Amino acid sequence: MPVAFSAVPDSHLPSVEHLLSAAVNALGGSERQGQITMTKAVQRAVDEDEHLAVQAGTGTGKSLAYLVPSIRHAMDSDTTVVVSTATIALQRQLVDRDLPRLSEALAKELPHEPSFSILKGRRNYLCRYKATAGWPEEDEQDQLFDPREVSATGRMVQRIQEWAEETETGDRDELVPGVSEQAWRQFSVSAQECLGATRCPSGAECFAELARAKAGEVDVVVTNHALLAIDAMSDMSVLPEHDLVVVDEAHELVDRVTSVVTGELSDVSVSLAVRRVGRLIEQPIADQLLEAGEDLKALLAAAPAGRVDELPEVLGLTLALLRDTSARCVTALGPRGGDKDDPDKAGQRKAAFTALDEVHDTAVRMLEAYGHATEADRAEVVWLDSGTDRRPPTLRVAPLNVGGMLRERLFGDRTIVLTSATLALGGTFDGMAMQWGLGKGEWQGIDVGSPFDHPRAGILYVAKHLPQPGRDGLPQAYLDEITELIQAAGGRTLGLFSSMRAAKAATEALRDRLDVPLLCQGDDSTMLLVKQFAEDEATCLFGTLSLWQGVDVPGPSLRLVIIDRVPFPRPDDPLTSARQRHVAAKGGNGFMTVAANHAALLLAQGTGRLLRSQHDKGVIAVLDPRLATARYSGFLLGSLPPFWRTTDPAVPRAALKRLADES
Ligand code: SF4
Repeated sequence: MPVAFSAVPDSHLPSVEHLLSAAVNALGGSERQGQITMTKAVQRAVDEDEHLAVQAGTGTGKSLAYLVPSIRHAMDSDTTVVVSTATIALQRQLVDRDLPRLSEALAKELPHEPSFSILKGRRNYLCRYKATAGWPEEDEQDQLFDPREVSATGRMVQRIQEWAEETETGDRDELVPGVSEQAWRQFSVSAQECLGATRCPSGAECFAELARAKAGEVDVVVTNHALLAIDAMSDMSVLPEHDLVVVDEAHELVDRVTSVVTGELSDVSVSLAVRRVGRLIEQPIADQLLEAGEDLKALLAAAPAGRVDELPEVLGLTLALLRDTSARCVTALGPRGGDKDDPDKAGQRKAAFTALDEVHDTAVRMLEAYGHATEADRAEVVWLDSGTDRRPPTLRVAPLNVGGMLRERLFGDRTIVLTSATLALGGTFDGMAMQWGLGKGEWQGIDVGSPFDHPRAGILYVAKHLPQPGRDGLPQAYLDEITELIQAAGGRTLGLFSSMRAAKAATEALRDRLDVPLLCQGDDSTMLLVKQFAEDEATCLFGTLSLWQGVDVPGPSLRLVIIDRVPFPRPDDPLTSARQRHVAAKGGNGFMTVAANHAALLLAQGTGRLLRSQHDKGVIAVLDPRLATARYSGFLLGSLPPFWRTTDPAVPRAALKRLADES
């Protein structure tokens, strides 16, 4: 239940300006104009009840800027404010560092010390019932692949069992080192599988329920975009009642929501349903589903990976068979609910219903994905992901646009503040707002800038003289350029490549040429590699996607960021290519709306790795000449901070040499 301070009228609470200043003083920081502007803008959005997008560059102190008005609103309206992040790193930063310090700093200024908690999806908490009573087998089949994995999983299972005895939160992230998905699945349930606290024998001490109850009592609950999406999209409410949501790392929202609503079907999902239902219904009925699953397995193994634009007859028949046989199993299981006095049986039936529903609903959804009259009417795309030795070939279905869903379900009756260092693409928020489903006049946008002096601190060098990147790996001229730049910088380089293949090829080719240590993503855990990179100035680190967004290394260890090519999505990426074609079919510019926006966002994120503190300086070298020559280059450049720009190869070399000499 919410805390009882609603009696405090608005006028009795200090202003956000006062609270921010008190917090900054208590934390030993200095006033930053961007932070003050953002705090006031968030307060205004709350007062006016309007959605707000805030671009706030690195170093603005944006978490404080939104937490202060959020806490004030929570106390003022006796409600809980939801703060959502895309990454665990930011979630940890908020809960372990920012909120404890801020709460302490504001305790004397407010009626009570601000309270906060973290809430994740049910799968992230140990299910006490499953851990003690056991559940019907999970995923035996997965373990048959490799005996080494069986024993590795066995060891993890044992570790979870020991941890289960002592954990106070049941939160998977507190289990260090982490465990595999396969091991964890044996101790966790999805929201659909959960028996419900009132029926579950462990309901009173359930970790997920305790976390939820706590979330309803605090001023600020920190969660992730996936749970935010589930809360908004499903009819079950997972989060406490709230009328204000702050979406941090908002540039990730659409991708995270898309992942939540992506459906998948493989022979493994079908055989899981068969195993779960097997002992509960007559065997011949379960066998029909098993056979349909085997048909699917054979079909997917023989089909080429990629988009499935037209429904092949045989796939249509198989999907229809899966739909009908899973429905028959559901009917054979009898009415839902029941088994009140037998929780074990109830658990088994619930698990079976969940797996069967998944197969049935996904098959129906895939069949319906082909019900459109024209390309412009298409709502969903179906594609086949090829398998690996750990994963079977899997058919997936995802919406071409989640804007409508977000608009209706998330933005509907609450105030949403969306923030990130990167929201204005090509200098405007319109692209992002369109993806969120917000039309003109339905939101306000503000760029509070950055405390960094970009033109003085950073050079954006585009190697206009180099050839365009081709399909056949890195051209020799690129390797020569990278070598010379790294030599000028004396190491200190983060290499951001558009693919893992390119990162590995560059590492292999350059290790012999350079006399500085060269690390490549995949050599060890990314966290350890970044640590090594930060600790030794001469060390260089090459890698791909997660490094574009996740490296935060202030100081002299990072003076040069190299980007090999404009990061357009791969032309064979099923979802982005389908989205591009869909926009074009509706009369829009598919390339600019999808591919160029995607590239602009990643470029802005990648270039954002260079300046992480007030004293940082350096060079961003983009080897792909299209950033200087292509017709869309203005749009891409307009999405980046105002670095000093050059295409003269001598300029970055001289600047890097100077910086290296200063170190
Ligand atoms: S209420 Fe659900 S999640 Fe909690 S212990 Fe019971 S079955 Fe597990």
